[in-house]
Amino acid sequence: MENESIFRSVDRLVSYGIACSLLPETERIYATNLILDILGLDTYDGLFVRYEDEVRTDMEKDTDHTLQEILEPLTDHALKKGLVEDLLPLRDIFDSRLMNALTPRPDTVIERFRRAYEISPSKATLDYYRFSKNTNYIRRDRIAKDEKWTGMTEYGELQILVSLSKPELDPKAIAAAREAKATGYPRCALCRENEGYAGRIDFAPRQNHRIIPFTLKGESFSLQFSPYRYCHQHCIVLNHRHIPMVIDGDAIEKLLEFVTLFPHYFLGSNADLPYVGGSVLSHEHFQGGCHRLPIMDAKVERTFLKTETIEVSSLHWPLSTVRIRGKNISEVGKLASRFIEKWRNGYRDDHANIDPGTDKDPHNTVAPLAFREKDDYVVLLMLRNNRRTEERPDGLFHTHPSRFHIKKEGIGIIDAPGLAILPPRLKGELRTVKDILLGLTDLESHPEAEKHAKWMEEIRGRHVVINAENIDSILKDEVVMVFKQMLEDCGVFKQDEQGRSSFARFINFVLEDHAHDL
Ligand SMILES: [Zn+2]
Repeated sequence: MENESIFRSVDRLVSYGIACSLLPETERIYATNLILDILGLDTYDGLFVRYEDEVRTDMEKDTDHTLQEILEPLTDHALKKGLVEDLLPLRDIFDSRLMNALTPRPDTVIERFRRAYEISPSKATLDYYRFSKNTNYIRRDRIAKDEKWTGMTEYGELQILVSLSKPELDPKAIAAAREAKATGYPRCALCRENEGYAGRIDFAPRQNHRIIPFTLKGESFSLQFSPYRYCHQHCIVLNHRHIPMVIDGDAIEKLLEFVTLFPHYFLGSNADLPYVGGSVLSHEHFQGGCHRLPIMDAKVERTFLKTETIEVSSLHWPLSTVRIRGKNISEVGKLASRFIEKWRNGYRDDHANIDPGTDKDPHNTVAPLAFREKDDYVVLLMLRNNRRTEERPDGLFHTHPSRFHIKKEGIGIIDAPGLAILPPRLKGELRTVKDILLGLTDLESHPEAEKHAKWMEEIRGRHVVINAENIDSILKDEVVMVFKQMLEDCGVFKQDEQGRSSFARFINFVLEDHAHDL
């Protein structure tokens, strides 16, 4: 009897693979045998029941949870048989092995991508994105728990995502990891050697992971999606070599080449210094997606140069951002490189508190973002400085400590353009804050909400009436407001007269130098 139900579960998993076009009908027996082996079964009823229609109906009803419901009885069976311990990372390793039995080999995946790319780049990435979800590499049931909303500010609409799949990192731990030499295998979570890797308790399983190789500036890279999905088709472009990130003219050329290959994507990079956003600095990689980030719609504050082919402006954006827009890829790239070089190469402004540091300990860097606007190439350069002081040990241009209750982690390449990635703890904490503000409970019963105490006082001060009808929208708007202030904290030139004139001085300095060279 017990075997009957496990055989049904095996048949359902194989049927899922066929229903999602992961494997063809001709591989039904082969895949079934692989799965039996993983489950430690040396017998089977030989029925190969086709559940494709049932699976399709389930998927239509609940796309996010169907696969999990198919996998759970199989993992439970393995738990009972002692094939796996009941710890989440180990369960993940086990069900990734099961999924690998359905997942085509890398070469097949690459070939499919190439064929689809010939029809159109957007078809290729969309098919590959669906594939990455169908294989459970992107875990639909987990990202379904994410919470999203937007809110209006003077900079335009900002976007919020409370991500439930990734733990919050301490900037100090990130800095320490940068110092540590990579020793194990794979060397880091981004290395291409992750493809097919079984995983360990401290290392995510990637048996069901497939990557798409291509070249940028003659170097080998691969495209993959982020398992955490911060936005639609949130992708990672990784160097095949485990070499450190460097933001310079080469990096800009790589971004521009990428948006030539994939004009429907944006691609950007975290700054290459600790404390200003990046979590993996030891491996060159970029992040992108098929998504309109708020900064792409930011208003131009001032235009400094406008010719028939190129335009340089500053944006009305909390982080000091130079926008370079033009039709000619090399002209845009060259000018962007010039800005990066001048900023990084010891640009100092005592009025604006900009101390570039030293050659050994530089503070100035840039978080760049590239995308297409009609036929134009657009590069956005968000100026960053990672100087730390006694009063601000996490960084002078880092989120102010009074806002750490919302997010302590650095403002990275997805946050900086206006899409906040907030830590999972907030989901529960905001529920508690809501109950406290409604008088349903109090702070004494919830010490974990203590860090929000001052914020709650401020919210009470700003809203005369707080009730069950308006509390959700009040809290959402208040989180957006804190996020806006975080971005302002990170701005190297502040949003005032002096900040604007200091910013203009920098842009003019670069443009004069550039004109001189022409
Ligand atoms: Zn690596």
